[in-house]
Amino acid sequence: MEELEYDDFTEQLKKINEKIEELENTDRLQEYLQLQKQASALQKNIYKSCKHILVYSKIEYACPEGRIYRWCGCIKCGLDNRVLDLEQYCLSSEQEAMLDYLQKYSFSGIHTGYACELTLAQSIYSKIKQAYPNIDDATAIKYFKNALDNIRNNKVNEGRQFSRVKRLSLNSNFKHLKVRYSSN
Ligand SMILES: [Zn+2]
Repeated sequence: MEELEYDDFTEQLKKINEKIEELENTDRLQEYLQLQKQASALQKNIYKSCKHILVYSKIEYACPEGRIYRWCGCIKCGLDNRVLDLEQYCLSSEQEAMLDYLQKYSFSGIHTGYACELTLAQSIYSKIKQAYPNIDDATAIKYFKNALDNIRNNKVNEGRQFSRVKRLSLNSNFKHLKVRYSSN
């Protein structure tokens, strides 16, 4: 009985592999793979040409040695060196492009000195850029810091916080809005 089941499984797997092989040879799939390659190359060009504006995307305090580890992310292009700490087998294609880029090139830019959840930082920056498309980096950083200070300092009720999250196009379960990060 066991042998039969085993044979069934191997037979099914063989059929599925044949179908996968057929699909691999279709123009549509080749086009998909080609486009993915192009997207990845473009993504790396974006990282390379971006004049990064950085926030601390993560700060970790290691006890008992008291060492502080800091990771940085760019509020413009989203390049984030936390990717260096992720398991390489479970990276998205965007994260793979990040990792590949970071392994080849240095990651530097103007640092805001602020620590902020990167998704939130990117949303704030994109709103600023939307309102002032020709804004220079120094002014954008000033506006960014003001916006973040306002979000953190203003005590808002749940309803207003929800609408703020909606305005920033974030998931409504977003938890980091009121978290105060230290940048020391
Ligand atoms: Zn950037």
